[in-house]
Formats: sequence, structure tokens, C-alpha cells
Amino acid sequence: MASNFVQANTGGTLHSADDASIRPVDRGFLYGDAVYEVWRTYDKRIFAWDEHWARLKKSGNSIHLHIPWADSLMMNEIIKTGAAFRKQTGHRGEVYIRLQISRGGGSIGLDIDLAESPEFVILVKPVPVLSAEIMQKGLKLTVAQTIRRNPPLTLNPAWKTGNYLNNIMGLREAKQRGANDVLFLNLNGELTEASTSNVAFIVGNSLVTPPLEAGVLPGITRAHVIKTVAQSAGLSVDERPISPAELETFDEAMLLSTTKDVQPVGLIDGFRYRVDREAKLWRLKTEFQAFAANSVSRRPELSVQRTVEDGRISI
Ligand code: PLP
Repeated sequence: MASNFVQANTGGTLHSADDASIRPVDRGFLYGDAVYEVWRTYDKRIFAWDEHWARLKKSGNSIHLHIPWADSLMMNEIIKTGAAFRKQTGHRGEVYIRLQISRGGGSIGLDIDLAESPEFVILVKPVPVLSAEIMQKGLKLTVAQTIRRNPPLTLNPAWKTGNYLNNIMGLREAKQRGANDVLFLNLNGELTEASTSNVAFIVGNSLVTPPLEAGVLPGITRAHVIKTVAQSAGLSVDERPISPAELETFDEAMLLSTTKDVQPVGLIDGFRYRVDREAKLWRLKTEFQAFAANSVSRRPELSVQRTVEDGRISI
């Protein structure tokens, strides 16, 4: 089996992600009229199931897309997909799980009343691994110059929808300038977040991060860091507007997301940040992983270490 095999599950049917499954008139495909979530496993168990499910429902409500499936059904489908991936590939490591729910197909046109019924697609692949170089040197970011984070009164960044075109354009600009990722400003000129991650800084013993009101996705990693993990790592938390002029005053910088947990940033435009072994972000990363391991240890029902036969799972 090719190492880049991705297991898909469309509406309950397992298949390779290379195979077509969604109709060309699906509104997720035509308009990005969809919502999604990404989970990952720790110790082969899905981490933060409830938080991501709640955010998915919230994103759905925000775009008036009612999610008709119970969380127990979807959890079962996800576990089935994870088990099928393990069976197909022999992969025994941690997995990345993406669930996208689109408003479905129907007659072509923007009106949501044209949509027939929602469709779901689950994708499972290995959790992306950071290269040794990035772990050592940290990521290189650049503040976007040609594009801003969409303001909350447009396509609200708090909604995790299938429309990431603004983020895609920001990332393109960053890559063109030789950076790994982009840092978006909002229309007030304050820092917001990266293309698929929240951002945080350390100065002294304080973790500084933009507030939700700056116009960012309420990241689940960010929320756990603020609520519990920062304190375990000996850091106080300061959620406040951050201007780009402050970038030179921070000691450390990092991205926060489900797949990356705490990812070191070594450079933002001309400013360098500590990523050496004494940097405080490593303690934060260790504490986050301990928090995640502890959290999944209480949820054996979220294990993807199952067997799957004819689309049915067993323990
Ligand atoms: N910000 C954006 C724009 C994202 O797309 C993501 C994750 O996909 C995040 C932040 C991080 O969120 P989480 O920690 O819930 O993965």
C-alpha cells in the first residue's frame, strides 16, 4: 500500500480518498458551503472529541447548516475509518482525522433552499510529522502584506467552514517570500493568527496571545493552553491585542493547532526567537502532550485500535 494512502468514508461507505464519491453539484465543492473539523489521536485515541464536535455544531449553526447525525453515530464512523486505515496500511502510529460536512447537492444556485441533504466525508491519514530541521530552527513566518484576516462581519474566522480561500492566498504570499507560514493582521492592523494555527508569544514568564475578538478561530489547542497547560508550564496568560511593532519585544513565538500542538517559530520577518533547549516553549509542549495523554486515558471508547470487517467495527 502506497505510504500516502488516505482512507475515506463518504456517508458510511469506506473507500480510498483517490476515488470519487461526492457529486459535482455538491455545494461544498461548488461554493465551500461546508463545515469541518480535524482531530488527532494520542495513544491511538481521539483527543478532544467533545470540544471539536461542539465547535462543528457551532460552525454549522452559524451558517444555518443543521447537522443531522448524532455524535455517537459520527464517532462510530470515525473509529471505523481509523480502523480501516490501520488495516489497509499497517500504520500503527497516531492518525489525523478530518470530518467535512457539506450542505449537500441540489440544483445549482446560491440559495440554501436548493440544497437536498447534508453529506459527510471522513478522511484519515498519519499525523504529519515535523521535520528535524523545523524542530531545531523553528518555523519562519511573515506578516501578510497583500491580504488581511477576514473580519468577523464577513466570513467570520470563528466559523470553521469549507472556505479557506483567504488563508490559501495568505499562505501563497508567505511561501513566495520564502516563509513557511503567514501571520495575518486584522483590519485594525493587529496580529490575528496563521493559515491554520493560532499564534502565541512568550515574554518573561507570560504567554501572550491575541484575543478571540481580534478575529481568530477559537482554537481548541489555544483554549487548553490558556485554561490549563500554560499554568502547568509556569506561565501566566495575557490575552490582548498585539501590534506588529511588538514582535521585536517577544522572547519566543509559537503556533498552536491540533496537528502541531506547540510548534516553535524561529523567525518572523527580521525578528528571531529562542528555540534552543532552554526555551520555555518546550516545557509548554511537554505539558501539552502530558495533558493530552491524560485526557485520552479517560476515554477508552475513543480508541481507533479496532478491527473492521465489511464496514463493521469490533473491539
Ligand atoms: N486557526 C485556524 C485558521 C485553523 O484553521 C486552525 C485549525 O485548523 C487553528 C487556528 C487551530 O485550531 P485547533 O487548535 O482547534 O486545531
